[in-house]
Amino acid sequence: MTDTFGTPSRRGFLGLALGAGAFGLAGAGKAAPRQVKTNANILILGAGAAGAALANRLIERLDGAAITLVDGRREHWYQPGFSLIAAGLKPARYSVSQTTDWLPSDVTLKQDWAANIDPEARKVALAGGEVLSYDYLIVATGLSLDHDAIEGFSLDMVGQDGIGALYAGPDYAAKTWQA
Ligand SMILES: Cc1cc2nc3c(=O)[nH]c(=O)nc-3n(C[C@H](O)[C@H](O)[C@H](O)COP(=O)(O)OP(=O)(O)OC[C@H]3O[C@@H](n4cnc5c(N)ncnc54)[C@H](O)[C@@H]3O)c2cc1C
Repeated sequence: MTDTFGTPSRRGFLGLALGAGAFGLAGAGKAAPRQVKTNANILILGAGAAGAALANRLIERLDGAAITLVDGRREHWYQPGFSLIAAGLKPARYSVSQTTDWLPSDVTLKQDWAANIDPEARKVALAGGEVLSYDYLIVATGLSLDHDAIEGFSLDMVGQDGIGALYAGPDYAAKTWQA
């Protein structure tokens, strides 16, 4: 059975995404969720834990939507695994997979960085020059780590003289274990 999902409204969209999330938590073992018919053009910036998870939820719930993900990194990092790498329990590659491994085939993945958002025109410019338009935009670009803000520290110190820092990626987590 399908509903229709017509005029773009933020409230309607959030209700749909949250409803899908609630199904995921409460609906294990139950029938597939009802699909909503739509021709919405949905753009997700960031294909990390949040962006990839939401793309999967929306594909499950929407019938006819165009979903595009943008991420400059081709690899997906399972960040909680960094702790196990830094503790010497797993190798650096343990946390690394291909983003495409986690996406349904009908989602489009663009490997580029989002450089500018124009919310009035509903357009996003990518670092490589391409401009993407959208009906709905999800910004899931995570955190920007600012290691330079730590006085006296730089990432090239990691792995020497007992200095460790595991947040910057799997290779730094592995160097932390070496240290
Ligand atoms: C060491 C460590 C241990 C952790 N342990 C746990 C745990 O035990 N349990 C738990 O729940 N959580 C844990 N976390 C936290 C969890 O990993 C994060 O909360 C989660 O990854 C956040 O997801 P996200 O999608 O918001 O960001 P991310 O997963 O960081 O994804 C953001 C994505 O956006 C992309 N991006 C950034 N800028 C742009 C741009 N301009 N254009 C396009 N793409 C862009 C990035 O390349 C990235 O792929 C841990 C994190 C770390 C670092």
